[in-house]
Amino acid sequence: MKTLLELKNISLTYQTLKFETKAIDNVSLKINNGEFISIVGPSGCGKTTILSMIAGILKPTSGEILIDGEVVSKVSTNVGYMFQRDNLFEWLSVYQNIMIGPKINHKKNCLSKSSLNSLLSKYGLSGFEKAKPNELSGGMRQRVSLIRTLALNPKILLLDEPFSALDYQTRLSVQNDIYNIIRSEKKTAILVTHDISEAISMSDRIIILTKRPGTIKNIMTIDFDKKLTPLDRRSNPLFNKYFKDLWEELQ
Ligand code: ADP
Ligand code: MG
Repeated sequence: MKTLLELKNISLTYQTLKFETKAIDNVSLKINNGEFISIVGPSGCGKTTILSMIAGILKPTSGEILIDGEVVSKVSTNVGYMFQRDNLFEWLSVYQNIMIGPKINHKKNCLSKSSLNSLLSKYGLSGFEKAKPNELSGGMRQRVSLIRTLALNPKILLLDEPFSALDYQTRLSVQNDIYNIIRSEKKTAILVTHDISEAISMSDRIIILTKRPGTIKNIMTIDFDKKLTPLDRRSNPLFNKYFKDLWEELQ
């Protein structure tokens, strides 16, 4: 498989007037096209910092990040970012929300209106184009948020604890939906989570970070049959073994 994203000896130190905080120390990692990666580690170990560097929002203090062999030097449309809060604009309709990115970018490299319409219908949102976000369920809101991110046609999706505000039942079904969308649209994804089960049920590999300054403690390969969805994985006998292994890694 082809390397899409490479982190080469990345370190980042935050500088404020009074303090220097070393958040990330010498992280190297290669991610293949189409992989689903999770990053887990203690709170404050630098997970969001890593995503911000991949998105080009923060520049590493040393080291470099390459996407398709090119150094990331500014915020790039190669990367789409999805947060814990869906950040939908409440006063705009579903359709207006997903058209925001293409509008701002003057449609450059974005999905066409017809592709966006087919994403809406494929993922259970047809008939809701004119609805406002507050008329949707939590799961539907997250799907709209993902389609809005996909509208910019990014190669890499960054997901920063996107399910943590959802109740347990909704979270399980949204994980399943989002996973299926990402797989069928053949995107590469990096998910930050502190939910061990979520990481195991969605990932090909799990990156385990140490406490701050974050370094890579271990990388776990998760090897389920490709056909299994996150929900299927949860009832697979391998799941408990991975859970125990990851639990021990995090102690
Ligand atoms: P995580 O997402 O793993 O919880 P973060 O990447 O948000 O961790 O933060 C890593 C460390 O860097 C934390 O100790 C945090 O306090 C510090 N940090 C994050 N953002 C800033 C900032 N803008 N200025 C100074 N320190 C920061
Ligand atoms: Mg964070």
